[in-house]
Order: sequence, then structure tokens, then C-alpha cells
Amino acid sequence: MVKVVKFGGSSLASAEQFMKVGKIIRAEESRRFVVPSAPGKRFPEDIKVTDMLYKCYEEAEAGKNFDKLLKTIKERYNEIIKGLSLKLSLDERFETIKKQFAAEAGIDYAASRGEYLNGIVMANYLGYEFIDAATVISFDKEGNFDSEKTNELMGQRLKNVKNAVVPGFYGAMPNGQIKTFSRGGSDVTGSIVARAIKADVYENWTDVSGFLVADPRIVKNPRTINVITYKELRELSYMGASVLHESATFPVRKEGIPINIRNTNKPEDIGTMIVEATCNMPDCVITGIAGKKGFVSISIDKDMMNSEIGFGRKVLQVFEDNVISFEHMPSGIDTMTVFVHQDEFVEKEQKVLAALHRAVEPDTVELEADLALIAVVGRGMKNNSGIAGNIFSALAKSKINIKMIDQGSSELNIIIGVRNKYFEDAIKTIYSVFIPEDK
Ligand code: ASP
Repeated sequence: MVKVVKFGGSSLASAEQFMKVGKIIRAEESRRFVVPSAPGKRFPEDIKVTDMLYKCYEEAEAGKNFDKLLKTIKERYNEIIKGLSLKLSLDERFETIKKQFAAEAGIDYAASRGEYLNGIVMANYLGYEFIDAATVISFDKEGNFDSEKTNELMGQRLKNVKNAVVPGFYGAMPNGQIKTFSRGGSDVTGSIVARAIKADVYENWTDVSGFLVADPRIVKNPRTINVITYKELRELSYMGASVLHESATFPVRKEGIPINIRNTNKPEDIGTMIVEATCNMPDCVITGIAGKKGFVSISIDKDMMNSEIGFGRKVLQVFEDNVISFEHMPSGIDTMTVFVHQDEFVEKEQKVLAALHRAVEPDTVELEADLALIAVVGRGMKNNSGIAGNIFSALAKSKINIKMIDQGSSELNIIIGVRNKYFEDAIKTIYSVFIPEDK
């Protein structure tokens, strides 16, 4: 059994957190490859090392004196080193960083130093080999991640290595220049390492015990999702549920490797398993509920629309021409409704209306703003009757008017549109329909 274990910033924010992480890694010999983030927040008002690095580099670029800020960053590492009683000095490395900042080595170089230095500390603490991600994670000269080259490089490099630490978040372009993934990208690095060594599991350790069935800011103490498929996760993440970087599933999916989200502060919790497919069905039929506010619906009416070939294409062309992406498009016999993000639409609304008139000569076009979309997601809904019925009668009982209903033919989700002001109540209502109260 081989596991890749990735630890997020809050799991590595202090010496105390490092000790918890050390205990977790040493508890299982299979935890052979470790991917650390940079130190995150120790308390809510704290600043992540990555953010400090961005700020510090900005000062350097502006020709200001950045010594003080760099010293504060160094102190954060030294506090960890001291707390772990390590015989390690980062003096030389900070000297190099200072020179590179002054020479304007690039914002990505700057940001990546958080993971780089934390990787060195972690390797020293565990007695594992340190492998600089710049030597094993490849970006092409345009700065796009080169997955196949990386897989080859990483696989070769780790083939005969027993234990190693590979810092998250960055790699290098062919000319050696450092390039990072987008924020939260250490999740992606963990997945890349897991794919390259064909790990049995990719454990992603964070500060929550996995994905929750609903947003805890809306539903009190929601249940944890034990098992979720990649597809369900995509639906829920798209609708706003976030724990994992959105690109983190791609590398492991290629090898069918499950991801296990775990909590560093509660290692006894089993967390959430993210898998390709499973016979395990959630006992409550649905897997999760998520949603977003801030949509506008544009309803286009025209008599005999149904027989007008090309009508839909012409309508969507208008949105494409105005660089507005559409989210949903339920249609009736003589109506077609397009849902778009309000913030992408408002500035262009009159332009879009005029363009729609020119393109399809509708009888009327109506707009409704301040709408929310809620996705009820679950592989267990397929071939199960009464799901939609239960949702709608519960919403009716709670006096919540439904503006839109959309169920894809995959039967993996039902999307419901309500007014923004009913958003929270609708989620609470749907949650209570499916999830019995825990004693
Ligand atoms: N340290 C980086 C960030 O704050 C990457 C990561 O933590 O995954 O976004």
C-alpha cells in the first residue's frame, strides 16, 4: 500500500500543527510521499505566508525596501524550526531569495518559496528526502502545465525513492523559470504525485472532516458525505461547495485513484472518499445540496418558436458575441429562458436585448434578476421515484415559489431556481426532506 499525503496550510501553520502532521505520517508506513503547502493562518486574523510573499515581492518590484517583510516571513519559519527543535538554518536560502527578489525573478517564484521552504523544513523533520518540485513538475514555455511530461519525469524520479517530500503549488518552465498553479494548487501537486507513483490513495489533509451535505453557514451541523463520485463533486463544487482545488481530481482520475479528504485536527474521522464509481449508495438518497445566488433569467417568447429551426442557436450566439456564459436554458413550446450570472449581464443588458430583437424577432423579452440556483445532487436519485415530488411539495409547504426546474437526463442532479431571498430557506427545507435529524 502506498499513499500520497498532502497537508494544507492550516495543518502546517505552526510547530504544534507540524507535530500533529508528523504523528499522522508516522502512524502508517504507507504514507511515503508528502506534499506540503506553505504555512497558513494560525488564527483567523493571521496572514498566510503565501500572501506575505506576494506582498513582499510587490514591494521589491516597486523598488521599496522589503527587508522587514522578508524578515517577518523568516521568523515564521524559524518559530516552526525552533518549536520542532530542529538543527536547520534557512539563512542561506533567505539570502538567495532576497537576491532573487531584488533581481525580479517573478511573482510566481516569490509565491512558490512558501512551499519550497516548508518542504525543506518538513523533510528535515521527517528525515525524508527533499525533492524540489521545479525538477519534477513541468510547465511548457507558454506556462501551461505539461501533464504527460511531468508524469514521466515524476515517475522516473520517485521510482526508487522510499520516502520523499515534494513541495506543492509550483513547477518550472523549460528555461527554469518557476511557475505556480492557481491559488490552492498544492492539491493539484498531491494528485500529480499520486498519479505518477500509482498510489493506492491520495490523502488530502485539511481542517475539515470532508465535504458536508450542505453549507454549515445555512444548515446547522450538516452531515459529512462519506463517499462521493468525481461527477457529483464537480456538480457540487460548480455550485459553490469548495474544499479541494477544482483541477485536483484530473491527474488521479487518469489512474482511478481515490482521494480521501481528512482532518489533521481530527485524524480519527474517516473524512470523505472521492471515487470514480461506487456501489455504495448514500442512505439518504441525495449526496449533497449546493447553490449560488445572483442570476438573471432572460425569457424570450415568440409564437411558433418551436418550429423555427436555428432559433436556439441564434439566441445563444447573442450571448457568445457579448462574452456572457449561460448557465441553464430551460425551454417551453413558445418560450426559451436563459440563465446567466447577474454580474456578467447587468452592464450589457440593453445591448443584449437589442441584439436578441435583431437576431430572432421575439414577441417579448422579459428579465428577472436576483435569482438563486440550487443543485440537489446524488447518484442515488437515478431510477428512484418521488424525489422531485418530495422536493417540490416541501418547498410549496414552506411557501417558496419555484422559478425554474431543470433535471439533466443523467438524473444526477435537479436544479431549482428560486428568488435570492428564499435561497437559505429553500436549502434548509430540502435538507430536512432528505436527511433525518441526527439524535
Ligand atoms: N500556498 C498556496 C496558496 O495559499 C497554495 C496552496 O496552499 O495550495 O494558495
